[in-house]
Amino acid sequence: MNDVVQHASAVLTIDLAGIGRNYRLLAGKVGPTVTCAGVVKADAYGLGADRVAPALYQAGCRSFFVAHLDEALDLRRQLPRDVTIYVLNGLPLGGEGDCAAVGIVPVLNSLDQAQAWSQQARESGRKLAAVVQVDSGMSRLGMTAREVTQFVEAPLPGIDVTLVMSHLACADEAAHPANEYQQNTFAALAQRFPGGRKSLANSSGIFIGGGFHHDLVRPGAALYGINPLPGQVNPMLPVLRLTAQVVQVRDVEAGAHVGYGWTLETVRPTRLATLAIGYADGLQRAFGTNGAVYFRGKRLPVAGRVSMDSLIVDCSELPEGALARGSQVEIIGGHQTIDDLASAAGTIGYEMLTSLGRRYERIYAEEIDTRWRGRAGMTAL
Ligand SMILES: *Cc1c(COP(=O)(O)O)cnc(C)c1O
Repeated sequence: MNDVVQHASAVLTIDLAGIGRNYRLLAGKVGPTVTCAGVVKADAYGLGADRVAPALYQAGCRSFFVAHLDEALDLRRQLPRDVTIYVLNGLPLGGEGDCAAVGIVPVLNSLDQAQAWSQQARESGRKLAAVVQVDSGMSRLGMTAREVTQFVEAPLPGIDVTLVMSHLACADEAAHPANEYQQNTFAALAQRFPGGRKSLANSSGIFIGGGFHHDLVRPGAALYGINPLPGQVNPMLPVLRLTAQVVQVRDVEAGAHVGYGWTLETVRPTRLATLAIGYADGLQRAFGTNGAVYFRGKRLPVAGRVSMDSLIVDCSELPEGALARGSQVEIIGGHQTIDDLASAAGTIGYEMLTSLGRRYERIYAEEIDTRWRGRAGMTAL
């Protein structure tokens, strides 16, 4: 990642021990007979797979899912050999040889991908493990019922199907009828692979109920503290802190214009602080409308539009001199979770997390520091 960030003005602290504890919470919830995998695609949702995956390994995780073969090849180098690495998007064209050479297990989403893997098995001179994904009602990836029939009635040589999986479209709404529909469709399709292990649930799917756990669960977001139960108390530990530095503080009169487009005109004398973080660092422009940052527990609303590299906040509520050049204010922490930040920007924690910038200094905390964990502490699952 960013190897040398010498003078960063924003600091992202990632609590690896907290990620490990979240893993164990989920593994405990599904119980010892179900495998709890870890989803570390998109560079572990932007947090750095090279640090996050070994922390998950330490917590007991031995099955990892990524989206792309290249992510899997990187991960292979970073983890001990006793892990299984799965590629959700399956085989890229021409990637079969690299995939087989280092024992990465592709998810076969189509008959095309299955044929390519069978061909590779012939070239490699041995059977190759694979996951078959079936489409249980999301229409994104996976074999249709017709393709499943073709696949099982005319088995391709050389493929050892070790897992059958599908993916839930509405898992974060437990009562959504899609869940039962997909559960039934998945059961019917998976039955065509007798003896195969099965996997359906992502983070939120784990919380719908035990019937959704099958043999392996695939949480990603919940490991990183995103609430798998939107609208309810978050059962996961927050694992992030993001602070940004004050570059300049100024007092303006009533009638001053603030930021691009002059979208804000002050109605009273106002104290403003400009922070060294902007939309290039993942704080979307939409964050300007309802967003805020925190300092010593006080909410400081964003004033005007978010710029590329900076953000103006109204700090009139703070005593004079409380903020100065170099002060660090909280963007994510005890007063504002990643989910809060996302909802202020009109998006979801997933998008917020994967957008967080590359210019931050990143601190990987191995030890659990409860001082900044703040509210939303661990609750029993
Ligand atoms: C991303 C992904 C997951 C992880 O989902 P979360 O909601 O982050 O837990 C699991 N399975 C598949 C197929 C995915 O694409």
